[in-house]
Amino acid sequence: MTIPKSLYETVRQGAQFRCEYCHYPELLSSAPLSIDHIQPQSLGGSNDRNNLALACRRCNERRYNFTTGVDPETGEEVPLFNPRQQIWSDHFLWSADALKIIGITPSGRATCNRLDLNDERREEPFIQNARQQWIAAQLHPPTDDPRQ
Ligand SMILES: [Zn+2]
Repeated sequence: MTIPKSLYETVRQGAQFRCEYCHYPELLSSAPLSIDHIQPQSLGGSNDRNNLALACRRCNERRYNFTTGVDPETGEEVPLFNPRQQIWSDHFLWSADALKIIGITPSGRATCNRLDLNDERREEPFIQNARQQWIAAQLHPPTDDPRQ
């Protein structure tokens, strides 16, 4: 089911035009960011505002229809970060150089792991290289949102 444009705009503005997982700024994208269903549609998730998040294609594809991930510290399967029910800065922080997202709770760590938010599974940390360019463009790290 297609999301009405007005609802899509509400989600975009609520997210301050950033991916709600990795904080990728939409301004750097050649296309608008996508809508992520927190409870996937394939698992009965609705188009209700409380089930929608703004996500970059990278995060959306990696989240796929997963709602849980493994906390690498404990090996336990826990719910992924939910941007409608949780606050980003309660679960993640930026490394001092702002190149890496560090999970600080079981959900934060499991989300970092599931979405590979720092490209640590790749030979080349593509996303970290990109973040260096975001910093150079003064679009990162986010400073304009108290939730972050
Ligand atoms: Zn993202």
